[in-house]
Amino acid sequence: MSRRTAALAGLTALLLLAGCGATPPPVGKPAPPLPPGGAPGTDAPAPGPAVFNDDVGENPLKITMIDIGQGDAIFIEAPSGKRVLIDTGPSTGKDALLGWLDAHQVTRIDLMINSHAHADHIANSWRVVQSRDIGLVLDSGMAHTARDYVKLLDAVERKGVPFKVARRGRVIDLGDGARLTVLAPEDPLVKGSRSDLNANSVVVRLDYGAISALFTGDAEKETENRLLAHAPNELGATILKIAHHGSRHATQDAFLKAVSPRVALISCAERNRYRHPAPETLARLAQAGVPTYETRRHGNITISTDGKGLRIQTTQGGPPATAVVAVAAADAGEVEAPEEEALPVTLLDVNSATAEELIALPGIGKVTAGRIIEYRTQNGPFQSVEDLRKVGGIGAKTMERLRPLVTVRSPGG
Ligand SMILES: [Zn+2]
Repeated sequence: MSRRTAALAGLTALLLLAGCGATPPPVGKPAPPLPPGGAPGTDAPAPGPAVFNDDVGENPLKITMIDIGQGDAIFIEAPSGKRVLIDTGPSTGKDALLGWLDAHQVTRIDLMINSHAHADHIANSWRVVQSRDIGLVLDSGMAHTARDYVKLLDAVERKGVPFKVARRGRVIDLGDGARLTVLAPEDPLVKGSRSDLNANSVVVRLDYGAISALFTGDAEKETENRLLAHAPNELGATILKIAHHGSRHATQDAFLKAVSPRVALISCAERNRYRHPAPETLARLAQAGVPTYETRRHGNITISTDGKGLRIQTTQGGPPATAVVAVAAADAGEVEAPEEEALPVTLLDVNSATAEELIALPGIGKVTAGRIIEYRTQNGPFQSVEDLRKVGGIGAKTMERLRPLVTVRSPGG
């Protein structure tokens, strides 16, 4: 574990924990009026095992902005155990990202979102696809000839990972009351902006109870103006991932006002040639009284929530840019559920899995992977998942972790 002790880790900010009920509260905001989008859903997957338990209380939903230098990489663990990775940082952040995922035993990611094809957001995506089990990749769909993007497409194709283009209106059910809604981009895409790749970043909204978060990629003013034109009231969010590392080309006053975040997050390196974050952006946040956490100052920033309040923990000390204020939980209104898309799960077929794929499963090392392959060589294909118990080294506990992740298919089937 790279997790440091509480003493070293520094800051744990308890913003508000009002009445920690056992059941998650209903989603507090009415569904934004969005056009229908995306492909029809598939069967809801069984929840995967929860993989990490940082010192951020027992709150079931966790968002970590991983300090990968100049770029973005955000990991979300939903209450159901489903995991989402938004962006994978620059190649210089490779060790930080993969190290963090390894330290938290993240061998499976249910949803990978690539906000846009710039290297500071997707340089490690192919590495993550290659080394983990990925359920679905959502992409802005604006292709790029950058080497890392081409490698990502290659890796996705080689491993047969479902790949979809994110468009406004797609809703992804993360289970147990958490859901993601794609707010941008939409067709026709933004054209003729300062950077169309940025301006068509995938923007997603995460809702859980009265708490919500907006992840904006490297959105530009054009992106914000479109979002504002649609329905400013769908933008209100507790947590705002500040667009474009705090650049001056986004986070306009009107947008900030519409979102009215209680906490802001900025991902950037201490010294970067873009001079992110821009003093103007920080000034706007300070003026709005929004506590702002930055990876360059706070290291990894983990926010956990029970759907009512937030806890924030960072791996480096230093207070946030402005004082912490209490989060006032929004009134839980009537929920008008949109048509939700269940996340497809790619189950690993233990009858055809390679040793490498088996080792990627929880609780399976090199020796046990060898035994699984030896077993099916000697006895023919596994008839049921439960047959894995006949393999030496797979006990009841391991079995419990494997069940949601594996399947048995008949050869040729
Ligand atoms: Zn960027």
